Amino acid sequence: MTVHVLFAAGEALWPDYRVPLAEALAEAGVEAAITLAAPDPAAVDYIIYAPGGTIADFTPYRNCKAVLSLWAGVERIVGNPTLTMPLARMVDPGLTEGMVEYVTGHVLRYHLGIDRHVANRSGAWLHHLMPPLARERRVGILGMGELGRAAARALAALNFRVLGWSRSPRAVDGIDCHCGPDGLDTVLSGAEILVTLLPLTAGTANILDATRLARLPRGARIINPGRGALIDDAALIAALDSGRIAHATLDVFRTEPLPPDHPFWAHPAVTVTPHVAADTRPATAARVVAENIRRGEAGEPLLHLVDRARGY
Ligand code: NAP
Repeated sequence: MTVHVLFAAGEALWPDYRVPLAEALAEAGVEAAITLAAPDPAAVDYIIYAPGGTIADFTPYRNCKAVLSLWAGVERIVGNPTLTMPLARMVDPGLTEGMVEYVTGHVLRYHLGIDRHVANRSGAWLHHLMPPLARERRVGILGMGELGRAAARALAALNFRVLGWSRSPRAVDGIDCHCGPDGLDTVLSGAEILVTLLPLTAGTANILDATRLARLPRGARIINPGRGALIDDAALIAALDSGRIAHATLDVFRTEPLPPDHPFWAHPAVTVTPHVAADTRPATAARVVAENIRRGEAGEPLLHLVDRARGY
């Protein structure tokens, strides 16, 4: 029987996904019709979703067996009251690889003090400041999920001393893992470079407020590819102005695109990257979607289901 899949992730993404999805579904042994619009919503079996796509009200899709998000972060859909069917988020090996590269690159930039040399056009032969080795540098990672763990492992492989923090206890080889409120204080107070890879939920919004920012060692650096609202913008700017936090690299923001008049743009101690840390990669993500549809049709549990109560 043909499975009806509605690609509701937006027309702009369709050219990237059309062929990979068709190929991945065929490889998974699923006979599917994928369309950009559904004249009869009740006939839709699965919805492929991304924020800014074509659906805000899921009510008419009453026979839909699951909504499959192309995004890892689901804060823009998880609380949708019309979403009564299961929701799976994206865990894509290509996306994870990209995040590992982004985090590692920006950690190394801070660790090696690369900016000092990039900025030097003076003709002055700079006094050599010997940086510590990675084995002497502590990096904290808030969020030890798919992305946080992968980044932690990559940094540990470069010899960084990595501290990780999650909601529930985690054990990851080579990583100093912590959880709960006390664990957060331990990770913050040890993190010379802090990476935030938490989902945005009621429990994580504004988690880096003025009090928590003050727990970081003086001169700490922050890399935020998680979500903008994890950090209190005004508290971060105050901490940067005072020099308590030496620099921040921010990829995600409360409003995206970041408005041109936002103080982050002009702040000398902020690097803005435009939500580019890690894209979902159609070739690998299509296989994840296809595998979930195969599972759904076979009556097997879906991968990467979102827990609505937890919000991620
Ligand atoms: P994930 O696998 O769900 O991991 C989330 C981690 O955060 C888990 O370790 C979880 O703890 C922890 N966590 C959640 N709530 C917490 C709380 N209240 N206190 C302490 N720890 C908490 O998610 P992921 O795939 O790694 O993705 C993380 C986030 O990255 C996404 O939600 C998205 O916002 C962001 N992201 C950004 C980009 C980009 O391009 N900038 C791309 C992809 C994703 P447990 O281990 O105990 O569950």
